[in-house]
Amino acid sequence: MRNAIFGGTFDPIHTAHTRVAAEAADTFHLDRVLFIPSGNPPHKPSDSTTPYEHRYRMVELACAGDSRFEPSRLEVGTARSYSFDTIAKVRAACSTSDEIFFLIGADAFAEIGTWHRAAEVLTAVEFIVVSRPGYDYPIPAGARVHRLETLALVISSSEIRRKLDSGEPVEELHPAVLCYIREHQLYR
Ligand code: ATP
Ligand code: MG
Repeated sequence: MRNAIFGGTFDPIHTAHTRVAAEAADTFHLDRVLFIPSGNPPHKPSDSTTPYEHRYRMVELACAGDSRFEPSRLEVGTARSYSFDTIAKVRAACSTSDEIFFLIGADAFAEIGTWHRAAEVLTAVEFIVVSRPGYDYPIPAGARVHRLETLALVISSSEIRRKLDSGEPVEELHPAVLCYIREHQLYR
């Protein structure tokens, strides 16, 4: 089976996330894309990230439309989410013949050198790096990288949060996610 890890804050998940995942699944024949929201640091009220359970529920709602998409709670409760640990957990849950790709946007991949155990992360998996307007990245020596350049989506969660807060219409959310946000009065 061909799997991909797709991690993020998903605060909130938006239509670029699912388009990126669908495009990667189509192009690289992935059977499964694991959407893994990052954990919330416990006992840290200063952290402005939306609580994990809300972000996870929105990921579930957005994943409902594609049978290849699977919400994952692998990072629940973790103070810091390290991709190094997440990859190890996914590998432990897979069988030896399974392939594991790491799906990531160009902006995030550009910073991978600063990650916890970066050198090991870079050699542990093959990367699918998706273009994002305004972001370029070097390919570190030894990394196995597949460039996915067929998308150029300007959508971001930060811009969506700004629009929600100022009461502007938002078209980049899945309808069920927008309903959830309204129902729970998030981002205002
Ligand atoms: P924020 O603005 O809060 O950083 P975001 O839109 O970047 O939110 P994240 O949860 O940070 O969303 O991103 C999760 C993953 O999805 C990252 O690998 C990121 O690069 C990728 N991603 C998000 N939006 C896009 C996009 N428009 N095009 C390509 N990749 C994207
Ligand atoms: Mg981001």
